[in-house]
Amino acid sequence: MEIQTQLKQALQEIQEALLGVSTPNELADLKAKYLGKKGIVAEWMTAMKNLPNEEKPRFGQAVNEAKNQINDLLEAFRTQIEDRMVSDKLAKEALDVSLPGRVFPIGAKHLMNQVVEEVEDLFVGMGYTVKEGPEIEQDLYNFEMLNLPKSHPARDMQDTFYITEELLLRTHTSPVQIRTLLENGGKKPIKIICPGKVYRRDEDDMTHSHQFMQVEALVVDENVTLADLKGTLLMLARKMFGEDRQIRLRPSYFPFTEPSVEVDVSCYKCNGKGCPMCKNTGWIEILGAGMINNAVLDATGYDKTKYQGFALGVGVERLAILKYGIDDIRAFYTNDLRFNRQFK
Ligand SMILES: [Zn+2]
Repeated sequence: MEIQTQLKQALQEIQEALLGVSTPNELADLKAKYLGKKGIVAEWMTAMKNLPNEEKPRFGQAVNEAKNQINDLLEAFRTQIEDRMVSDKLAKEALDVSLPGRVFPIGAKHLMNQVVEEVEDLFVGMGYTVKEGPEIEQDLYNFEMLNLPKSHPARDMQDTFYITEELLLRTHTSPVQIRTLLENGGKKPIKIICPGKVYRRDEDDMTHSHQFMQVEALVVDENVTLADLKGTLLMLARKMFGEDRQIRLRPSYFPFTEPSVEVDVSCYKCNGKGCPMCKNTGWIEILGAGMINNAVLDATGYDKTKYQGFALGVGVERLAILKYGIDDIRAFYTNDLRFNRQFK
């Protein structure tokens, strides 16, 4: 066959073969078939040796031209394949900026922690430090050193989960006060606030829970009086319930304080006029407090002729219930997100 025809045919074959090529590897195979060492072009060059001398130059030139054409054709196609691969990749990774964004739910602090932090903020601002202690506590720190010896009738006020005779789940955060008094060895002044969980053997219902939170404050120093306590209570009441609040102290009894007081805040719903919230009294009971009992100072090595102090303790749930109008204490612990989300 005339060489020109063979070359033309080969080019046509390549063009048809290229239609089925989609990857660089397939293209490389095609290139080897035509331009490789044992490829079709190499065969033509071998065939040239058997031609008469006068035909060789024309034949050689034709083969060279064909070789260049094949090469150009394959290279052009390689560029096409590479372009297509890049645009496929871009299409796959495309980012549609007009789509609405994904919403990542943002958590929030539990209402209990919010209230604790609010109280902490107030006291830290007045120079107190925050102290924490263990929830499994010794009878010694939870009761005895707080002027509540074994068999003391006031222990009945705090139904207790005992682990052994001497170990229990703390019924209040007061043992943190005892620990701090002991740490300071009867010498240094103290100004602390102790928030934390406490436990009592209560039947759970709308107003009772076997687990709840307290924040207590303790101040021990020289020349501390009931007036200091009253001023501190007024600050707390106003911080939690508004700047116009008043407080009222009523005599009470706690073994660890003497004198002891119950603290009422003027009703923030009716401003003291009387409403269902305050049972028409104009006042709402919020917490207990008092001057540190001498027996506690004695037990922890503080000289009662030199040091005095006061303590106050407030239920965190009670503050939250009053402040946010919550009607069931169990809502704090059941982890119903619909409840929690109201206080974001
Ligand atoms: Zn009222």
